[in-house]
Amino acid sequence: MINEKRMLDEFLQLTRISSPSGKERQLADCLRQKIRALGLPVNEDDAGKRVGGNAGNLVTALAPAGKKPQPLLLCAHMDTVEPARGIEPVLENGLVRSRGETVLGADDKAGIAIILEVLRVILENKIEHGGLEVIFTIWEEGGLLGAKNLDFSGVSARLGFVLDCDGPPGTIITRAPSQDRISARVKGRAAHAGINPEEGVNAIYVAACAISRMKLGRLDGETTANIGVIAGGKATNIVPDLVTIEGEARSLNRTKRENQTAAMCAALTRTAEEFGARVEIVTETLYHEFALPEDSKVVQLALTAARSLGLPARLTGSGGGSDANIFNAHGIACANLGIGMQKVHTTEEFIKTADLVNGARLILEIIRLAGEI
Ligand code: ZN
Ligand code: CA
Repeated sequence: MINEKRMLDEFLQLTRISSPSGKERQLADCLRQKIRALGLPVNEDDAGKRVGGNAGNLVTALAPAGKKPQPLLLCAHMDTVEPARGIEPVLENGLVRSRGETVLGADDKAGIAIILEVLRVILENKIEHGGLEVIFTIWEEGGLLGAKNLDFSGVSARLGFVLDCDGPPGTIITRAPSQDRISARVKGRAAHAGINPEEGVNAIYVAACAISRMKLGRLDGETTANIGVIAGGKATNIVPDLVTIEGEARSLNRTKRENQTAAMCAALTRTAEEFGARVEIVTETLYHEFALPEDSKVVQLALTAARSLGLPARLTGSGGGSDANIFNAHGIACANLGIGMQKVHTTEEFIKTADLVNGARLILEIIRLAGEI
């Protein structure tokens, strides 16, 4: 039923449309047209306006047909990471990659292509289903801003899938961590490095000491932490008075994440105190963790569909957040599915065409089985 050529052509077309985060307009217009051509309504919200982007989230729905209403949410994101200008996909040896100067953007246009093909197949073949709600989000990369600003009053599904993970079709992400961002300004005192250094408080030294007192990297099986950005100082003859630091803490366990963030803040505060510096810290929880039980409906649905197609089904966790974190926080039981994209966020990103097709078969099977499981 899946039209492999049509789907691949559409995927290639989507990858050629540049859509870095916040600049999804051209892709959104293309998708609006495609959705309308299917005879479906399409709604664009004002999330873009609120976050400084040029397009909003797109929402469309398919009314239940032949089955009792139990709408299923499907989501993929429109934006890609950079470098994303002038993407030219190359189809070769059963896989699609970029020419090497840009990402491919299979993350997440593979998800979009799968959803569009599945909608088409359902309508063409009048496949019975309990209703579908489709969301194409903006600005997933680096903030989940589209999903965070989505108007959830229009969403009635209580169960769904985000198509936005590496790993072959059959990979089912049932847990993902929460994340805190930590931004700090270490304030010392400036002085001439050669004339009166004893009057200065070296903010670089204080920051370095504080960081050396933090536990970073993989802290246990479910917790990680990182200092990713540090900046400060003006010249070698000035004792630096300001350093800015940005870091993060993640965990599948809420308490562990909170404790790790607190420990990183304490290292900064105590060290600053010790050296007579000051520190301003801002922490923000970017998203919350989720963990779907193996016997939950949403997990069983994906497992059963994968097995019925002979795809290797695998339940696993992710170290990163996705729109699924936001949906779960809004009470929609939502797993993230592997759709075969590989080496994402690099210029070597690629996807096998067979995985693209299997991703579509899997979603179609999930829709068929929904309501029966
Ligand atoms: Zn993605
Ligand atoms: Ca990504």
